[in-house]
Amino acid sequence: SKAAGKGGKGPPKTNGEKRADQIAGGVEAMKLDDTPRAKRHVDAGKSTLMGRLLYDLKVVDQRTIDRYRKEAEKMGKSSFALAWVLDQGSEERARGVTIDIATNKFETEKTSFTILDAPGHRDFIPNMIAGASQADFAVLVIDASTGSFESGLKGQTKEHALLVRSMGVQRLIIVVNKLDTVDWSEERFTEISTQVSAFLTAAGFLSKNITFIPCSGLHGDNIVRRSTEAAASWYTGPILVEELDNSQPASRALSKPFRLTIGDIFRGGVQNPLSVSGRIESGSIQMGDALLAQPSTEKCFIKAVEVDQEPVDWAVAGQNVTIHLSGIEEQYLKIGDVLCSPSNPIQNIKQFTAKVLAFEFLTPMQIDVHRGRLHTPGRIKEIVAVLDKHSGAVVGKKKPRVVKPGLVARVVVELEMAVPLEAPARVVLRSNGETVAAGLLE
Ligand code: GDP
Repeated sequence: SKAAGKGGKGPPKTNGEKRADQIAGGVEAMKLDDTPRAKRHVDAGKSTLMGRLLYDLKVVDQRTIDRYRKEAEKMGKSSFALAWVLDQGSEERARGVTIDIATNKFETEKTSFTILDAPGHRDFIPNMIAGASQADFAVLVIDASTGSFESGLKGQTKEHALLVRSMGVQRLIIVVNKLDTVDWSEERFTEISTQVSAFLTAAGFLSKNITFIPCSGLHGDNIVRRSTEAAASWYTGPILVEELDNSQPASRALSKPFRLTIGDIFRGGVQNPLSVSGRIESGSIQMGDALLAQPSTEKCFIKAVEVDQEPVDWAVAGQNVTIHLSGIEEQYLKIGDVLCSPSNPIQNIKQFTAKVLAFEFLTPMQIDVHRGRLHTPGRIKEIVAVLDKHSGAVVGKKKPRVVKPGLVARVVVELEMAVPLEAPARVVLRSNGETVAAGLLE
């Protein structure tokens, strides 16, 4: 999002690109664009923070960080060393075209995390959408240094939060960063928290789902290790890594029927079984279970399950699994298809109603419906109503002819072919290469 709107260098962005950048900013919040670091505006410190997190969790080794530090010092920018930990990934991505969402993995004692790093560049928009639609929570990073929050960042943070909300992300961690620059002022932290909290609750987030943490990414305070600064001793709440551990998907996903969107398909193992991998969105599975593949409606069985390359007897919502299948031919499974419980299957549908945030003018029109990494052609069949952004109540007359950018509307979408979709799936509507709306199935 820094690439959009600020500085006025390079070709002006269309609204669609700007908005899409902002979704990336909102949902990913860690690393937004691919502008060379040295050319960028000083920003909230997302890359530095993530670099610090990975470094302190020992995901990055000392040698690598020392090498970055040396290179950075040569440039007279020693503070960039931590940020390069993440940028390294984007360079690799730029070279290798096979990786569609650059990921960094890290583990805490309790949980393993995947950082979805989807830059706001237009070439990466479909990947960014995939990233956004998979996020369990968002980390918004706010620069607490004097004047930064006030000068425009406030508006940007607000917009990011609304976009994240329209994509169905409910849980937010707000890192109030660079507190070292204001001598760990509790007053400054409270001032920012109060203001941000007010607009987040107005935007529909529940206050129990928002946590504020005072941090310094650069010095590593309250990220993986609690600050030892005397000036920071007033803060006794959770530090970032503790809060990440607390942010696991709601346990009620466990009691819902089994759903897994196939992220990869491969043949492996001695008996050469057909295997798929992906994250269990809801429910649980165990060896021997029957599954239904959608949209093909083919049945299959679980021969074996693996979590982190280790065989397990069962697996639950939130885990990334590899499932070895039997009783199904390869032609009935594609990346993006859904494996589900046969007794409570996801339906293949050709029409749905969604509540979307419009980024461009919406009218009954041809669109592409993006869901995760897949997209299906279709059209907006009808605009049911424009809704109040916060309360969701109908505003104005029913069946308006157009929806203006920035407004939330309920729309009926018709697809050219039936695909497995159910509420509250996150969908993004695109037209002529531009993102025109994003929101949730109802
Ligand atoms: P991004 O663009 O949001 O990824 O921000 P960067 O991580 O590149 O950081 C922008 C600038 O802020 C860099 O010069 C960093 O060294 C600096 N910075 C980042 N975090 C902190 C912090 O916690 N304290 C201070 N004083 N500076 C920071």
